[in-house]
Amino acid sequence: MSTTRPKIIIVGAGAAGLAAAYTILKSEDQFEVIVLEGADHAGGRIAGEEIDGFHVHTGAWVFHESFSTLQRLAESLGVEFKRSHFKKGGHVYCDGKLWGLYVGGSLKQMLTTARTVLSFRPISLKGMWQTLRFSMMLKARGKDLSFEDHSRMLDLDTKESFADFVEAHGLTDYLEEAGEVDIGCFTAGHPEQVGAAFGMAQIWTWTLNPASRTRMPEKGVGAFAQALVQACQHHIRLSTPVERIVLEEGTAKGVVTADGVFMEADAVVCATTATTALKIIPDLPSGIRSTLSRVTYSSCCQVAMGLDANILPAGSHAAIFPRRTGAFLTIVSNLAGLAPRQAPEGKTLVHALVIDEKARQLFTLSDAGITDRIIKEMHKYFPNMPEPLFSRVYRWPEAVCLTPGGMLTEIDEMRQQGLSGLRGLFLAGDYMRMPSCNGAVQSGVDAAENCAAFIASRMA
Ligand SMILES: Cc1cc2nc3c(=O)[nH]c(=O)nc-3n(C[C@H](O)[C@H](O)[C@H](O)COP(=O)(O)OP(=O)(O)OC[C@H]3O[C@@H](n4cnc5c(N)ncnc54)[C@H](O)[C@@H]3O)c2cc1C
Repeated sequence: MSTTRPKIIIVGAGAAGLAAAYTILKSEDQFEVIVLEGADHAGGRIAGEEIDGFHVHTGAWVFHESFSTLQRLAESLGVEFKRSHFKKGGHVYCDGKLWGLYVGGSLKQMLTTARTVLSFRPISLKGMWQTLRFSMMLKARGKDLSFEDHSRMLDLDTKESFADFVEAHGLTDYLEEAGEVDIGCFTAGHPEQVGAAFGMAQIWTWTLNPASRTRMPEKGVGAFAQALVQACQHHIRLSTPVERIVLEEGTAKGVVTADGVFMEADAVVCATTATTALKIIPDLPSGIRSTLSRVTYSSCCQVAMGLDANILPAGSHAAIFPRRTGAFLTIVSNLAGLAPRQAPEGKTLVHALVIDEKARQLFTLSDAGITDRIIKEMHKYFPNMPEPLFSRVYRWPEAVCLTPGGMLTEIDEMRQQGLSGLRGLFLAGDYMRMPSCNGAVQSGVDAAENCAAFIASRMA
């Protein structure tokens, strides 16, 4: 242990790493905190960017009102969150047209929904009945399907995928007509890639629970990230990738950066994705390695565009393109109703999202190549879309933690036992809790508290 202030190194300045840093800095002034970030900006998958008065989100786009830990942190940072006035609404592409679907809403929106339900052939009567049946099933477990505390849904976290679970319950039509679209929208993955419990919580939280709303800053997710970065800014070192976290006889000793510098520390928090943690901590015990190896991520490519005109009606937050339509695009989001100050007055901010294999195809192109391809696709569905005022490409080879069946339970067991046999090393990241921005923040708070307790116990 060094004779000066105990030093904590946090690897990664995403939501988890920043939440860890902020929690320590807020409560403890006797620690030296350094956050090492590999990229040239902080924020990771919640980062935002300001472009000509537009507040662009680069990754995550919405916060749910049930994200209590994240909202407590936002309150302490002084970031105001607004609950959405609108209930959920969006458009689904089918038979060459975009069809509006709203949960409640104005008379006009209700009429639009009625027209969709009556004429939208791919939502069959059987599919509607199964959706209703599934809603009732989820409602019965609604209190347990929580992103804040998922401990009561672990009995649903079998090895089964969401697709298998739904099919086993005779809900195949629901899955093909609506479920697949919702999972794609909220995880950038497919129903066969996510576990049953995680899938049910996603669907209940974001879609089928009619009472739930989003709660986020009026300038969007990036405003939260920006406040968190600002609060920790004097402690963050950008463009400093960590190559290895050094463990000696099970005790964290520090890190080696990519330029070969060893930095000593009294404790290290690894707040990267699970994949990176496996790479930079080669000495992890085999039990922990095997748990982390189960964590998988979806891939997506997101193109943000500033427009002079709104291409979706007010209250419609996204146009969704089901996999079976063969469309290249997965989602086109426009959060004007949820984050009204994301775009300057009279303008609108749109994000086009492509997932999975199609995203990986795009990753091989230049930014200009990706933008051209996306704009061509957009014109097929929005022929009146004006030329974008600007566009930006964001590549996410690891987008949303997909949580295959049984992973929540396995991670929970690992978390509760602590990293047994290891001292001074703490893991944070969305995969350590219920994967989401809230889970990432929770994992950072957990790591900070455990880290402070560890150092205090050594000083006692
Ligand atoms: C397109 C997209 C949309 C999403 N939408 C939503 C949404 O609407 N709502 C929601 O709740 N969640 C959403 N998510 C998921 C959410 O963004 C993540 O769950 C959360 O931000 C993860 O935070 P994290 O800190 O765990 O990881 P990250 O944000 O990935 O942070 C890890 C950090 O570590 C850094 N790093 C990696 N390797 C090294 C290294 N060797 N040395 C130093 N630094 C390193 C990275 O650069 C990064 O900054 C979305 C994600 C994406 C990509």
